[in-house]
Amino acid sequence: MNIENIVTPIQKLDEFLGNELYMKRDDLLPFSFGGNKARKAVYFFEEIKKGKYNCVVTYGSGSSNHVRVIANLCASSNIECHVIAPKEAFKVTNNSKMRELFGAKVTVVPVDDVHDTIENKIKELESEGKKVYFIPGGGHGNLGTKAYVDCYEEIKQYEKENNVFFDYIFFASGTGTTHAGLIVGKLQNHDDRAIIGISIARPAPRGRNVVLESVREYMGDSPDIEESTVFVDDYRGVGYGDTVSEQVIKDVLIRYGIPLDETYTGKAFYGMREYIKTKEIKGKKILFIHTGGTPLFFDSLNGLLYGDYN
Ligand SMILES: *Cc1c(COP(=O)(O)O)cnc(C)c1O
Repeated sequence: MNIENIVTPIQKLDEFLGNELYMKRDDLLPFSFGGNKARKAVYFFEEIKKGKYNCVVTYGSGSSNHVRVIANLCASSNIECHVIAPKEAFKVTNNSKMRELFGAKVTVVPVDDVHDTIENKIKELESEGKKVYFIPGGGHGNLGTKAYVDCYEEIKQYEKENNVFFDYIFFASGTGTTHAGLIVGKLQNHDDRAIIGISIARPAPRGRNVVLESVREYMGDSPDIEESTVFVDDYRGVGYGDTVSEQVIKDVLIRYGIPLDETYTGKAFYGMREYIKTKEIKGKKILFIHTGGTPLFFDSLNGLLYGDYN
């Protein structure tokens, strides 16, 4: 994979509820359908190559973009890939189909058994003489955070070259390091703008705390971290089979020719729109980060047309 030095484009879209809307296309990172998991995976694989690991263990559901990217990278580098998947979110998706194509070995267990299953799997593989590298679900940890500090610097560079300043940055917040990296970037640059993560699954106190912990783990504690961490959990319910999310996906596809999905980017885009309306934000420059998930768009497309989400 050679995507280390590739800067993803920022596209000016149009007037949006009285604001100027831009989109950073991390979905266009050119490996395995890109997205934030590809951006994070670069750093994990740097360590894997350096440490000469020959086996990877990671975690994720059937719709996980992270698992797809990791399984693809493992297959292309001839590294054995093991995935622990929660039984509760075991859906057939384009991502799970590719996971199969890439030859990842999947162990499905109830979500409560995930932790122990991972530990046992690592021990088992090590006892077979394999050198095992563990990647936390979603590419969590400092390496994942670092990937989005990089993304923040790309945004700064664009602003400098184009003489603009984004007042707001919106994106889908899940396992937390995309969010954490952007906050670190803002704090390190002492920028005055709002970084707004739209939660796609976790409710606020817990989800927000995970982001706070990731920021502190990366840069140490600072009094500004707390107030810089805006975690909006009002739009988690928008999702599969929901006419609201179908409408958003259809609108954005027709208007801009850009694919969103129902699990991540569709929710975040919808959440951004509602947030802007509710807070009556006007005359600002707004950046939406498209965090990827294109294979899930095609799952959603079936739903849009035939009401079938598989
Ligand atoms: C994983 C994912 C997210 C959430 O990113 P986190 O770093 O886990 O918070 C957002 N969008 C897409 C498409 C994803 O796959």
